[in-house]
Amino acid sequence: SSKDAMTPAVAFYNSSMGEALHRRKAIRSDLRQAIDDGHLELHYQPKVEMQTGLITGMEALVRWQHPKRGRISPMEFIPVAEQSGLILPLGTWVLQEGCRQAQAWSAAGLGDLRVAINMSPVQVLCQDVVGIVAQTLEDTGLPPNLLEIEITEGVLMQEETKAMQRLRAMRDLGVHLAIDDFGTGYSSLSYLKKMPVSCLKIDQSFVRGLMENEEDARLSRVIIGMAHDFGLEVVAEGIETLEHADFLRHEGCDLGQGYYFAKPLEHQAFERLLASPPPWQHQPVGMRSSAL
Ligand code: C2E
Ligand code: MG
Ligand code: MG
Ligand code: MG
Repeated sequence: SSKDAMTPAVAFYNSSMGEALHRRKAIRSDLRQAIDDGHLELHYQPKVEMQTGLITGMEALVRWQHPKRGRISPMEFIPVAEQSGLILPLGTWVLQEGCRQAQAWSAAGLGDLRVAINMSPVQVLCQDVVGIVAQTLEDTGLPPNLLEIEITEGVLMQEETKAMQRLRAMRDLGVHLAIDDFGTGYSSLSYLKKMPVSCLKIDQSFVRGLMENEEDARLSRVIIGMAHDFGLEVVAEGIETLEHADFLRHEGCDLGQGYYFAKPLEHQAFERLLASPPPWQHQPVGMRSSAL
């Protein structure tokens, strides 16, 4: 009877946990190969000035087309990369490629756009990230003020850590620092006045609820006001509708990012977007509803 009792658990393990574990292992070993073979790619999502509709920069987002498994989301493979240490070579590649591309667009006369690169806490903690950033700027020729590093709140939690010294050193290079997914982490706001950041990104979960949820609207308003009090720029991410854009522009949000403007685009599509006036510039953000 003890054997009977075990059977369902074993069957559950085999069919579900075993598969998930197998997939994680496969992702880990295939990711190493993908980095070496150059199978990763960057897509770019524009950051748009809310008042003018101009594209001032873009966030680089890594993409992986697996030869057998198809497209794998960074939400799945970035955590695996962080646990295995692969985030270090992966992150360095993203940084180099993003800076190279931004400098190439600038040299081609497409605009002096600021490229935003997501940086994992592991990258900040476990390597000479300042040296890597400085070397990348030198190698690519990208001016430091055209690079922005996006980090999450957790990295900023303790003030006098190695991580904090490194972030300050990056800031001293002239690179911008932004706090990604702001409002979702557990954090004390007192760090805002001491930290070397120049920008807050309102998490998309708040933007999504703007029209239905008074709490989300209030939170977004508070974050924008507070950021400006501290002299910081505010970006809203996950803007999907004209209503979101109107609300945030009206509240004084500086920059916006989201499917309403454009999804993350492969580099050719991003170039086409830069070369032709995008639809939201014919009728500036926020002007449509009031013009009716
Ligand atoms: P994130 O940095 O907060 O990036 C924003 C995510 O929201 C991206 O998902 C983007 O495609 C998505 N997004 C943008 N606008 C909208 C919208 O209007 N609606 C909705 N529903 N989603 C929108 P993605 O590309 O799947 O990346 C997910 C996360 O993976 C990123 O969140 C970031 O934390 C991480 N990630 C992506 N690329 C890199 C990278 O190169 N390095 C590191 N360390 N992390 C990365
Ligand atoms: Mg980001
Ligand atoms: Mg984010
Ligand atoms: Mg996120």
